[in-house]
Amino acid sequence: MKIESLLEYLQQLDWYRGQIEIIKKIPEQAPIYAELSTPLSIAIQRHLDRRGIKLYTHQARAIELLREGKNIILTTPTASGKTLAFNLPIFEKLSKSKTGTALYLYPLKALANDQLRSLQELEAAASLNFHASVYDGDTPEHLRPRIRERARIIVSNPYAIHQYLAWHNKWKRFFENLQFVVLDEAHRYRGVFGSNVALLLRRLLRILAFYGAKPQFVLASATMANPLEHAHKLTGQNFSLIAEDGSAHGRKFFVFWNPLKNEAKSVHRQSSDLLAQHVNADLQTLCFTVSRKMAELTTHWAQHATHKTLAAYRAGYLPEDRRRIEQGLKEKTLHGVATTNALELGVDIGSLDSVIISGYPGTVLSTWQQAGRAGRGQQDSMVTLVGFENPLDQYFMRHPERFFERPHEHAIIDLENEHILLAHLMCAVAELPVKESDEHYFGPRGPELMNALQAQHLIQKTPMGWVYRGMARPAEIVSLDNISAQTIRVLCDGEILETIEQQRALEETHPGAVFLHQGETFLMESLNLGQGIAIARHADLDYYTDTLKSSEIRIRRVQDTKSIGAFELNVGDVFVKEQVIGFRVMRFDKPLGVHALDSPSTEFETVALWFTLPSSVRDTVAKAGFDWAGGLHAAEHALIAMTPYFAMCDRWDIGGLSTSLHADTGTATIFIYDGFQGGIGIAEKTFELFSQLVQTTYELVRDCPCETGCPSCIYSPKCGNGNEPLDKRAALVILSELMKSINL
Ligand SMILES: [Zn+2]
Ligand SMILES: [Zn+2]
Repeated sequence: MKIESLLEYLQQLDWYRGQIEIIKKIPEQAPIYAELSTPLSIAIQRHLDRRGIKLYTHQARAIELLREGKNIILTTPTASGKTLAFNLPIFEKLSKSKTGTALYLYPLKALANDQLRSLQELEAAASLNFHASVYDGDTPEHLRPRIRERARIIVSNPYAIHQYLAWHNKWKRFFENLQFVVLDEAHRYRGVFGSNVALLLRRLLRILAFYGAKPQFVLASATMANPLEHAHKLTGQNFSLIAEDGSAHGRKFFVFWNPLKNEAKSVHRQSSDLLAQHVNADLQTLCFTVSRKMAELTTHWAQHATHKTLAAYRAGYLPEDRRRIEQGLKEKTLHGVATTNALELGVDIGSLDSVIISGYPGTVLSTWQQAGRAGRGQQDSMVTLVGFENPLDQYFMRHPERFFERPHEHAIIDLENEHILLAHLMCAVAELPVKESDEHYFGPRGPELMNALQAQHLIQKTPMGWVYRGMARPAEIVSLDNISAQTIRVLCDGEILETIEQQRALEETHPGAVFLHQGETFLMESLNLGQGIAIARHADLDYYTDTLKSSEIRIRRVQDTKSIGAFELNVGDVFVKEQVIGFRVMRFDKPLGVHALDSPSTEFETVALWFTLPSSVRDTVAKAGFDWAGGLHAAEHALIAMTPYFAMCDRWDIGGLSTSLHADTGTATIFIYDGFQGGIGIAEKTFELFSQLVQTTYELVRDCPCETGCPSCIYSPKCGNGNEPLDKRAALVILSELMKSINL
């Protein structure tokens, strides 16, 4: 009732101008329970009974499949009891032997301790002692040998395993007996990080095979379009999918709030006012913001409009302050918290009444993760998505039904990126000689790349197989977060803010650039490529900078082609040359000035998708009196803006180029390229899903109410040409011709 009256109240506010685009009511679900074919142990069953826990269908299915020896991926929503679903069968199996072990991996160190608590609770309840322990970079040196010797459950993270594999002989007992590898939050293993982790897991499996172990895999993940493909690429194994949710939940009101309907009030002010109205209506509320600064400001502004207790939460706070806020939420003494996505995952704060998502978080997957924070048992809950002025936010504001359809986002992992493969092959060789029979772990390119490493005198062939000859420990040079070893450290007051790849450094850390780090602004003072250092200083700035750059693309090799009417679509290897030529200083989307830069050009190979346009389309555009080059450019921007809706990535991971005459194709061509050296699978996925991409891009441009283009459709804040030339009407002709050809 509270929610319905709040919704009515919001529509009577003096600043309400029809911002509510939709109120989607997701009906409640009664719990669906299931019985196991063979009961759990008496001790565990008694523990569940004491806590009033009955098994839901998805939990029972997970237990049965793991008992059968299958690998599983569980994609049921947040708070559906996923952890219990795999902990129970793992405990059951470990308790049947004296030696079996299990390895739990979390993408972030911070999540390990929450998991350890639930493992220890279950150990106590079942009167079992597996000596479950966290073992990672924070584990004190003197405790390590004992954990390695006796723990039967170890909770860690990929960064730590990456380092420990070289010392696998110390892990002999644990590895020999390994029966399960659990990868929780498995959707986080995507893009560059995911591709690195996939190869790290191949290295782990090779070591395990050496010790005669072949564990079962358990993956828990948020919902995505390709869970089975993702699980297979990540681990090389086959999986059974459990997606059907049997847990109980109350009604959820999902509101799409379009702040652009009232231009007199800023989007952030509307979010903070909504937060105040929610807590005033007695709804405990979490408001997700895009930056730390916004978390602070939202709290500050909202506090003026309510007597309830509010707080801001972000990663940079001291641990004791964060614990206090988490505790306040759990105990309901805090009524509202504005937070960065630091609270999106894992951290235990209980469930709230409502969530405000101020700015689409970049993926549908993250939006549902954040929305999952609202909803306590079978009570009603409310989620409000506040759309910003950019293409994806506004696309969903105008097409909310698309948000609730089956997922379109594919997690991407690339097992063929040469740079990543070389890095992990080098690590593998240093861990244990690589034999010909090991090549299947690293795919078809293994032998060729081994020869490349030999040519660099990093490895050598011996009767035992390939062995390492380099000086440095490979795992120390290879980072799971990057592709290239050529990185720049961004320093502020002598401390490292971030380590970024050189190519990105040229664009983001040149002198005069405003550098964003975890939502805070820094002004860049110098960039020294030779030393690999960029110096930043704290600066509270109300402007930002955009780089201007020139790019060139040459086609190296076509991998695949398909004809779409008279359009020809290709995917293949390209060579990209980029040069940062200057930057613009911007305040509230208005340019304040342009500065020239003299920086070296970067050249890299990557994978691109490109299509050529027939002259008939150019003639149609010309006849209508529109601008051909502006149309190609605008269509390129819009296509890039919608790509993350299909191939899960950041808009900034993609580059583009459009030209009315390209040297290699001899005609008008639009390129969309993967911004990472060697590519990480974005172009291939986009090639596969091209028709859907064109369909949504067409809807985006067609349905944007602007006349000549705006930041919600064809403008790109990262356009190397300063958004010139652009012609929205010409882009619509191009996209609709593409649509016609697709539907032929
Ligand atoms: Zn527009
Ligand atoms: Zn552009």
